[in-house]
Amino acid sequence: MESFFLIKPGEILLKQDNQKEFTTRLIKEIKDRLGTIPSRIGDSPGRFFLSVDQEHEIAAAFVLAHCPGLNGYVKAYHGAKQSDKIIGTVLEVARKASLQGLRTFKVETRRSDKSFPLGSYQMSASAGEAVLASFPDFTVDVRNPELLITIEIRERAYVYGNAEKGPRGLPSGTSGKGLLLLSGGIDSPVAGYLMAKRGMALESVYFHAYPYTSMEAQKKVERLARRVCAWCGHTRLWVVPFTELQMKIKKAAPENATTLMLRMAMMEAADRLAKRIRAKALISGESLGQVASQTAEAMQVTQAPTDLPVFRPLIGTDKEDITLMAKKIGTFEISVLPYEDCCVLFSPKHPNLKPEARELKEIYAGLDLGVFIEDSLARAERLTYGYEDVHKEFERETDRV
Ligand code: ATP
Ligand code: MG
Repeated sequence: MESFFLIKPGEILLKQDNQKEFTTRLIKEIKDRLGTIPSRIGDSPGRFFLSVDQEHEIAAAFVLAHCPGLNGYVKAYHGAKQSDKIIGTVLEVARKASLQGLRTFKVETRRSDKSFPLGSYQMSASAGEAVLASFPDFTVDVRNPELLITIEIRERAYVYGNAEKGPRGLPSGTSGKGLLLLSGGIDSPVAGYLMAKRGMALESVYFHAYPYTSMEAQKKVERLARRVCAWCGHTRLWVVPFTELQMKIKKAAPENATTLMLRMAMMEAADRLAKRIRAKALISGESLGQVASQTAEAMQVTQAPTDLPVFRPLIGTDKEDITLMAKKIGTFEISVLPYEDCCVLFSPKHPNLKPEARELKEIYAGLDLGVFIEDSLARAERLTYGYEDVHKEFERETDRV
């Protein structure tokens, strides 16, 4: 038995000149993420169809739910344009919805094949009556139904219930590649997810100060990268050893400037790495005013070592909103695992709240970190995540429910 999904793309329908390119990309993304699952994908104006073997239905739904560029998807029945068959499948949709506890419904028919003997209204009415006859605790609600059953009479008949939401946004890679500064905290994975939704392919960089930050801290970042991979399809994580740089900064920089110097060094290293992997932008989880290094003045300083755009999609959000998003995307429970971040260990007691940009840039230049940064990058470890990891995340999620 096959499982058949109708897929509604989102914003790509608004693209005029490059809609074809976006569509091709979205189809490729879905295919890539399905990995070894055999599938067929077709498209017709305004939507796609995906069919997979029934045993892969839940895995396919997971892929669709995580694929940027999709507004929604729904498992649909399709078949002959015969009203008795159509009503049979409407009852099947109602049966599943009743198991989920839904009780009010409405049937809507769209008929583009005008040779079909029943009019839209008649088709909806007979299907509605059949539902009421078979499910006595169902009632019709035309304004705000819990279950909307749609019948489409096109080249074939399609019947489906409520659509599931996709991530919306743009297909991965259509906005180029971004390099995410991924720490073990709550914010940066969410920042990566938001930029993935805007069509960015992602690679991540983690600056690791072993043994001041433990191997467990690195493992946590690896788990975050794998979880973010469920949204961006495939990704690489660069683990860059940063201990020597931190020690050098601690020794040579004034105490109240160490955090900003460290941030600048991270930016410089990220900038150099981004240029090597052809990333067009850096992405960070900063939020205005969250800590002393995230004021407007501080950001003017910390971003000085790069001429790439630094995307900070969380800049105007607060921790509560970020936490809600982190829970929704499945990173929260990993982020809150208790491993200390290097910046906690190296924070000055009294950080500089009103840094003076020119002075700090001079101090940074004086540290002359170029050679150390190159050396760190040369020793970076590169980890790759792909569709197998998307499937691992899927298995983890199914285990949990
Ligand atoms: P997060 O912001 O991810 O919750 P955090 O709050 O501990 O972690 P901040 O001190 O707020 O981190 O750092 C701001 C941003 O700088 C992070 O969102 C992340 O993008 C980047 N960053 C901080 N530490 C690291 C690190 N060790 N490796 C890579 N990026 C980092
Ligand atoms: Mg933060």
